[in-house]
Amino acid sequence: MAKMSWAAGTQCVAKGDHKKPKPGELLYRKGDILTIVDTTTKKGFYRARHNTTGEEGIINATNVREREALRVDPSLSLMPWFHGKISGPEAVSKLQPAEDGLFLVRESIRHPGDYVLCVSVSGEVIHYRVIYQDNKLTIDKTQYFYNLIDMIEFYSKNKGSIATTLLKPKQKQGTKSAELELSKNGWLLDIEKLTLGENIGEGEFGAVYEGVYMSQRVAVKTIKCDVTAQAFLQETTVMTKLQHKNLVRLLGVILHKGLHIVTELMTKGNLVNFLRTRGRSVVNSVQLLRFSLDVCEGMEYLESKKLVHRDLAARNVLISDDNVAKVSDFGLTKVDSKVSDKAKLPVKWTAPEALKKEKFSTKSDVWSYGILLWEIFSYGRQPYPKMSLQEVKDKVEQGYRMEAPEDCPPSVYSLMRVCWEQEPRKRPGFHKLREKLDREMEKLSPGSGSKYQDQTGS
Ligand code: ADP
Repeated sequence: MAKMSWAAGTQCVAKGDHKKPKPGELLYRKGDILTIVDTTTKKGFYRARHNTTGEEGIINATNVREREALRVDPSLSLMPWFHGKISGPEAVSKLQPAEDGLFLVRESIRHPGDYVLCVSVSGEVIHYRVIYQDNKLTIDKTQYFYNLIDMIEFYSKNKGSIATTLLKPKQKQGTKSAELELSKNGWLLDIEKLTLGENIGEGEFGAVYEGVYMSQRVAVKTIKCDVTAQAFLQETTVMTKLQHKNLVRLLGVILHKGLHIVTELMTKGNLVNFLRTRGRSVVNSVQLLRFSLDVCEGMEYLESKKLVHRDLAARNVLISDDNVAKVSDFGLTKVDSKVSDKAKLPVKWTAPEALKKEKFSTKSDVWSYGILLWEIFSYGRQPYPKMSLQEVKDKVEQGYRMEAPEDCPPSVYSLMRVCWEQEPRKRPGFHKLREKLDREMEKLSPGSGSKYQDQTGS
């Protein structure tokens, strides 16, 4: 692979030991994860921080490799020890040969919906019924858990009132432990190093907190429901592949009582709130165009990776401390384009062919991008003001389109209109859009188009 220059914040994995560092050098072992903190040192060298010891020092770039993306793999499981509906005798046979602490969890056949923890102890298998009470799980009515992951984590460290601590998961055939894969590739972070701060947002599936991870400010999305966490694992594996200055960057995940997704902190929150709370007196049209260009570049990158976002909207664009707009929320991002739940679609942002025939593509993202442009230039107004969802569906199908927002440059409005071509083929791609926006930027503020921007991290 060509030697790239790494941006600060890049996570690297050590290829070998460096046990006898010279003064100023960093000590590390094979497999350790290091964060690049300074790239301005000698060529071929970086200043890096050790993710476990917290120490900083110089490293030789040839001794490390950049952390790799995870393969999107449906067999990756947060609960590889969960075997689904199997009978007691089946569980017993799976826990052979006997080994103290070997365990699995199954769903009871006689009491559907109830779980049973099966543990091998002194040559026998003990079955502990897990009771569901007040939205929590418990075995002994003393210790209560949010979910199975939480329960297994507890009994792996504490014996509690069961016969032995859980020592070794019996993996269900065909599953791979997500924890193991994440940790091998350097994506598993350590809960001990995280300091959680204030709640900064509510997502659909869990709260978002700000926090500090090894002296870096981060955002942490917590997902407590184990089924949802499993689904989000997919989002996370997609995110490990994506690195661009206009996409919210994944730092890693923490497995603790569920799933915590740790990303860079976007201190200025989402774009809708940003624009609404500041308005015309604070944000000028160059800044609006800058945001439009930022989002477009992020989307151009997704387009180049053949990924479809499906939920592009100003609420899913976040603003960094230095006013860079980044696309977030890859929850619905899929490589293929089949959709599961029609009722959940954001109607006002979704292209007609996607609403009607579930045909999602980069070109349906382009439609959404047109709506996003409208949101930006109207300073965060709700699209199709005062229209019901049904009205929007019907009228847009008949050719109705929103008018230009107040004071919107005509050239920008004409970009919105091409994004809203009924025929997906007639809509430009993000690459074309970016070129057009660059030219607009050049007119409005010479010398500040995307080609003049710092390209690190893209
Ligand atoms: P969901 O997709 O479940 O709706 P989001 O990821 O959109 O959840 O998060 C909800 C809100 O939390 C966002 O609108 C934003 O205000 C805040 N938020 C999410 N991620 C970050 C982040 N990385 N930095 C700052 N705020 C964030």
